Amino acid sequence: MKIHEYQAKEILRKFGVATPRGIACFSVDEAVRAAETLGGKVWVVKAQIHAGGRGKGGGVKLAKSREEVRDWSGRILGMQLVTHQTGPVGQKVRRLLIEEGANIAKELYVGMVVDRITQRVCLMASSEGGMDIEEVAAKTPERIHKVFVDPAAGLKDAEADEVARRIGIPEGSLAQARAILQGLYRAFWESDASLAEINPLILTAEGRVLALDAKMNFDDNALFRHADIVAMRDLDEEDPAEIEASKFDLSYIQLDGDIGCLVNGAGLAMATMDIIKLYGGNPANFLDVGGGASTEKVTEAFKIMLRNPDLKAILINIFGGIMKCDVIASGVVAAAKVVGLKVPLVVRLEGTNVDLGKKILAQSGLPIISGSNMADAAQRVVAAAKGVH
Ligand code: ADP
Ligand code: MG
Repeated sequence: MKIHEYQAKEILRKFGVATPRGIACFSVDEAVRAAETLGGKVWVVKAQIHAGGRGKGGGVKLAKSREEVRDWSGRILGMQLVTHQTGPVGQKVRRLLIEEGANIAKELYVGMVVDRITQRVCLMASSEGGMDIEEVAAKTPERIHKVFVDPAAGLKDAEADEVARRIGIPEGSLAQARAILQGLYRAFWESDASLAEINPLILTAEGRVLALDAKMNFDDNALFRHADIVAMRDLDEEDPAEIEASKFDLSYIQLDGDIGCLVNGAGLAMATMDIIKLYGGNPANFLDVGGGASTEKVTEAFKIMLRNPDLKAILINIFGGIMKCDVIASGVVAAAKVVGLKVPLVVRLEGTNVDLGKKILAQSGLPIISGSNMADAAQRVVAAAKGVH
């Protein structure tokens, strides 16, 4: 699950991470009032969307008067903000963060992710922060310093200080940087984050260290123990098909191809997408209905997939181990009756109750193309999507 910058900053502040003062707003009038409440002479109007690269896309603007706050807020609220992370359509801006302007002397980078190889939280830091960190990572990876944090000890003072020195924090500001790095680690750990990033972390002309931007993603599997974080969910930022799928506990991810995939098991779902690609097709979605799916769940999964206007064909690829083939078949038939099946459907079934499953499909009267194995089914669905039967 993702949250907005202003929400991530709220969480980080609870863990002692210093940020500029700011107020989240939903309208231009609120934005102007926020600037008045904050006081000062310089404000930053920041679009709040679940994507980075807002600065380059025109979603972060400096305002030197209340009129400028009003002007920029009016332009940014409601705009379709396109960044390198939103895709070409962009994301509509519905919320703003009005923040006091910081006097930036240097932009640095710090981030944390779970490193699967060492099974530890990896702290990454660089003196080259700001809006081009992706380029630094690609071209000069030696400029990114890493610490793999021992979960029993947490991020130690000495580790935090060494990283801070390496990214150019002066001695006089070291204690502030340490508080931020250790606060970020504790926030990451205690909220079950999968990613936490401060880019830029800044050094101000006055020697203060501040988190100027903040991003946090959370492990969905741990959300049950974080009601406060779940309350931060913004459904406007999520794909409607994925929201629907999450209600039924289905793993669904919308993609930009035209072949719908309904598969059981994440590994088989990945392999199915690969094999579709291998034969020249493009998957429209990732969908894992899970091991013990009910007919109802399969029906919902099928309905969600069928709503995609780009859909040209569907491949159902099931290996019935725990999942029974007849349950899948009944779900498909039920869903096709409710929603109406307008595209070719290729089915490859194998495993528990396979004969019963095939019988249910055959008796349904649906125009089903059967695939004898994965390769055969993939080739058939790619051909069907191209209009060749
Ligand atoms: P994004 O990463 O989505 O582009 P950021 O929050 O990092 O958005 O903002 C982009 C840039 O705008 C920053 O690198 C910084 O130079 C500037 N900026 C952001 N917030 C402030 C602020 N409060 N004061 C001064 N400059 C800011
Ligand atoms: Mg940023």
